[in-house]
Order: sequence, then structure tokens, then C-alpha cells
Amino acid sequence: MVMRLSLFALSLSLLVGCGGPEQPDPVTNVDEYTLDSCETQIGADVPAFFAKYFRCVTISMDGDSVVIESKGLPPHKSFYYASASANHTGYVSQGQGYYQNPNQIAEQNIRMVVPSAPQPRGLSINDALVDGQVGSSFDEYGMGAVGVALDSVALFNPLAAPGDDIEAEKFSFDPYGGHPEMRGAYHYHTTTAGPLEVLAAAGLTSSTVPGEASVEVYGVMCDGTVVLGCTELDGSAPDPATLDAQNGHVHDMVDEEGTVHFEGRYHVHICPGTLTAHGFTPEIMYYSDCSI
Ligand SMILES: [Zn+2]
Ligand SMILES: [Zn+2]
Repeated sequence: MVMRLSLFALSLSLLVGCGGPEQPDPVTNVDEYTLDSCETQIGADVPAFFAKYFRCVTISMDGDSVVIESKGLPPHKSFYYASASANHTGYVSQGQGYYQNPNQIAEQNIRMVVPSAPQPRGLSINDALVDGQVGSSFDEYGMGAVGVALDSVALFNPLAAPGDDIEAEKFSFDPYGGHPEMRGAYHYHTTTAGPLEVLAAAGLTSSTVPGEASVEVYGVMCDGTVVLGCTELDGSAPDPATLDAQNGHVHDMVDEEGTVHFEGRYHVHICPGTLTAHGFTPEIMYYSDCSI
């Protein structure tokens, strides 16, 4: 029921919030927008996990919930920045079949409310639920932004528009695994160096190559599901035998210093090649509420 309502709210906001098919003005920043130059504001009462891992966002508390606000601009280069932007880089094909879509990066107004104690929906997340089809279950994340990455970029679900396949859509990804949709909302669906660069800047890894970093954390979904990469929070290897159909499982999340950030928390591992055939964001909400 909650998802029914939020899908309804999403379609309403798409209708009301969008003045037409035209894209908002693309970003034309004169100075390069980077992890160093972006603004990060995190309230003193915000749980340590968010202060430790997130950058280029504003995070505050609303009661027991964590509120993450983001402009959604990637703090790295992309050929999807307008050519007048200091973050623009020329198009580079990543291989056969790759192309650049016609959209350009525009500023977003993301406000995601993550419950501190999310309630499980009681699902067994199996292949029947994780079917790659839009609208096949009310437990799916909605379309559009449904999470925020460590570097403030939106996380989308792994479902392309009806009739499309994410495996085909990925050919328009830039070298950071991101691309903008028609209103300029740049987003990730998969593993990317973007959040790993945040971890590198914090001294938690020297490599920013997905699958090779000492610690791989990508972000948080709207329902409270944490998105990790090929490692646990402390850099150890996940136990593949315990993963569900979207590479998720529940256990305490402990960092490399032994700090327990979350007890018994559902999280997914997106990890190309080793743990999983492909490494996309989760399709199914483990927890009951998504507010974004
Ligand atoms: Zn996309
Ligand atoms: Zn794990």
C-alpha cells in the first residue's frame, strides 16, 4: 500500500513538477565541481555512517529519520556536462555499441528521508520478484531517483522503461557508469568509480576501480537498504552463499575500525563478475517505506 501511494505521488509529481518535455537549463559552471569544491553539511546529530561516507550533500535529522538533500551533480567529469561546464569532457566510446544520449546534466532537487529503524516488508527476495520487469510488483523501487550515492549522485533502480532493457541502456553510460535522463537527472544504476573516489579521498582505499577497492560502499536507497560493492563495510569478503536474488543479506554492518554502524541491516552487494553476473542496483525494496 505504501508503494502504491508513493508510485501515485511520483506520477503526480512528474505531471505537476514538469512544465513540459523540455530539459531544465544544463549546468554551465565556470569552476570545476569536485569533491574538494562541493559543499558538504552534515548535522552533529546525524548517525556517524552518513558523516563518514557522504560528500556534496546536506544531511540533517527529522525526528528519527535521516534527511539527505542533494543537487545530484556528479563531482567528476562527464561528457554529459554541457560543453560550457568546467566538468565537461569530450565523448569517448567505451566499446562497440556505445553512444551518447541527447541529454545534458541539470541540477536536481533531491530530498530523501531514510528511516533510522526501517521495517522489513517480510519478503523472500527470490528470482520471481527480481524479474527485471517494470510494474510486476508493488515491492519494486519506483522509477527516477530512489537512492543517493556517496558522491551525491542519484541512484536509480535497475529497470529501464517498459520495453527497454538495462543491459541495452548501459551503452549510453559514461565512463563513470552514469547518464542523465530527459530532465537532466544524472544517475547511476551500477558500480562506478564516483563513490569509490569519496572513499579514496577519505583514505579508505587507494584503488577506485570497482571490484578492486579495499572497501566498496556506493550509497543508500530510500527504504534504508545500503548498497555496498564487492566488500563488506570493513573490507572483508561477503559470504556468497547467504545472498538473495538481488545479492542482498542481513547482518551487522561493521567498519574497518570495529564500529557497528547498523545492526541486522539489509544491504546489497553490487559487484560485477565475481559475486554476480552483473552488478546493478536493487530492484525490490526490502523495507516498507520509500520517501524521496
Ligand atoms: Zn538510466
Ligand atoms: Zn554483506
